[in-house]
Amino acid sequence: MSQTKKCSKCKEEKETTLEYFGPHTSNKDGLHAWCRNCFREYQKSKPKKEKYRESLYRYYNRVKGVYGIFGINDECLYTGESKSINRRFNDHRCHSRNPAAAIRNNHCQVELYKFLHNYGFDNLDFRLLEECDDHKEKEKDYINKYNPVYNNA
Ligand SMILES: [Zn+2]
Repeated sequence: MSQTKKCSKCKEEKETTLEYFGPHTSNKDGLHAWCRNCFREYQKSKPKKEKYRESLYRYYNRVKGVYGIFGINDECLYTGESKSINRRFNDHRCHSRNPAAAIRNNHCQVELYKFLHNYGFDNLDFRLLEECDDHKEKEKDYINKYNPVYNNA
């Protein structure tokens, strides 16, 4: 006899197995509160861009390299380098939401943050340009190549 549990989203009783619920280690039974169907619907309902961005932030965790921020006409707005691209993306996102704080903290890329804030962070295209260990050096090549608007602002 198999146990069932009620999905907290659709309220249907389903077998308490991985077939019906995704894994979630911090829950007591090791399974998600939502059934797989509800999760699938939820994932589908999210805008594509958002999904892409979420994966981007995770994917570049601890990736060293050079990245670029591109605008709607594919113009390069900014290039940067970091030993953790994902963390840097998140920093930019955070500062662009609150440029006033960045200004107060004398952040050097204030003009960039003001722009990101006004333009809408999620309308921009963040790209990993190159994964490399000599990212500080490589960034200069990309600045020469793209002449980004906000690197010298
Ligand atoms: Zn459900």
